Amino acid sequence: MDYKNITVAGSGVLGSQIAFQTAFKGFNVSVYDISDEAVEKAKDRVEDLKPRYQEDLGASQEELDAAVERMSFFSDLGKAVEDADLVIEAVPEVVKIKTDFYEKLGQAAPEKTVFATNSSTLLPSQFAEATGRPEKFLALHFANEIWKNNTAEVMKHPGTDKDVFNDLLEFAKAIGMVALPLHKEQPGYILNSLLVPFLEAGQMLLVKEVADPQTIDKTWMIATGSPKGPFAILDIVGITTAYNISNAKAEATGSEEFAKLAAVLKTEYIDKGKLGRETGEGFYTYPNPAYEDPDFLKG
Ligand code: NAD
Repeated sequence: MDYKNITVAGSGVLGSQIAFQTAFKGFNVSVYDISDEAVEKAKDRVEDLKPRYQEDLGASQEELDAAVERMSFFSDLGKAVEDADLVIEAVPEVVKIKTDFYEKLGQAAPEKTVFATNSSTLLPSQFAEATGRPEKFLALHFANEIWKNNTAEVMKHPGTDKDVFNDLLEFAKAIGMVALPLHKEQPGYILNSLLVPFLEAGQMLLVKEVADPQTIDKTWMIATGSPKGPFAILDIVGITTAYNISNAKAEATGSEEFAKLAAVLKTEYIDKGKLGRETGEGFYTYPNPAYEDPDFLKG
């Protein structure tokens, strides 16, 4: 892997984090977004990340300033990818936006450039053709707050070149991630393939009135030694996201159970402003949620 110049396309929540982390680890980073206004916002986002790096990683002012020095910002795609070894795409999770973007990128980028998508729910094979270079295209999926939640799921589609895949694993390590190879396409990658069914199973026990959230979490925590059960995790994910997922499942499958779950999440939680940890209350109240109390596991 001899990547030096990295372009991050889309500088929203995740794009700005990927760009800053990559520059922090010594790469030259071009940040691309659709307008000058969006680019200005990206600069603000980067400024907002600095105190997080100081708090969470003990980064010095010099290191943070040096990272910013290595970043440049563009609203012109051609200029942003002029000498890019790798483009990491973090544009909105909308098929049409991503397809249009890859068609333009395929034309604008030099032949050497590898493309990686950070999409959470769409598969790389959906866009492989639009890129014009399927063998140099794959997924590189980060988690929010990448400087501390440092997983990088690197996932091939059937046409990805093996050396490109190995290079991306190496790159992910070079920017401080734990590189996790996925040899086949998998919706939801590894994490959500495990987490989504787990959280759903917990919520179904609640909707079927088998047990209350605290009893369900307690069972899981005591029996497996896990620090959190499904409802504590749901508070972190956010109850709005859980509601959107159950609502979509109810509509797609006609499932009465998912419709009931969506209704419970809406009337008992969302309508009462209990959106999870972010709002101070969800299934638990914060700070100091009950599941962190040592007595929680005693009875
Ligand atoms: P966001 O809405 O915060 O940011 C999207 C950015 O893309 C904005 O700055 C927007 O101006 C820009 N944009 C819009 N159209 C564009 C175009 N045609 N070309 C270039 N830029 C364009 O979104 P986000 O949460 O950062 O998500 C981006 C991607 O990252 C999605 O694919 C999402 O699935 C994935 N992701 C998000 C998270 C998360 O927690 N937010 C976690 C992992 C992966």
